[in-house]
Amino acid sequence: MKCPHCSESVSIFSKEMNKFGKSKVCPKCCNPIRLYVSLKWGAILLIPAVVTSLLLKPLFINAGLSGSLSTGLMCGILALLCMRLKVPKIKESA
Ligand SMILES: [Zn+2]
Repeated sequence: MKCPHCSESVSIFSKEMNKFGKSKVCPKCCNPIRLYVSLKWGAILLIPAVVTSLLLKPLFINAGLSGSLSTGLMCGILALLCMRLKVPKIKESA
């Protein structure tokens, strides 16, 4: 993911991103950022995700795993891919 301030890539698994609480800061430029799931990207990636989960299903079944596991895995990947960073809105009333 790219920081909306400095365009440096920020890892979803970085320490900053896994902090509890709403306020997160970019580890590179220290400006406030917000993590959100883009519905637009969700809609774009939904079809390839469904197709991939259907293609993976026989592989999971052959490996002795539940077929629904591939669907769950693709949903998780889909959510990760749809995550974007944006500049948080500054509240007018403090
Ligand atoms: Zn930054």
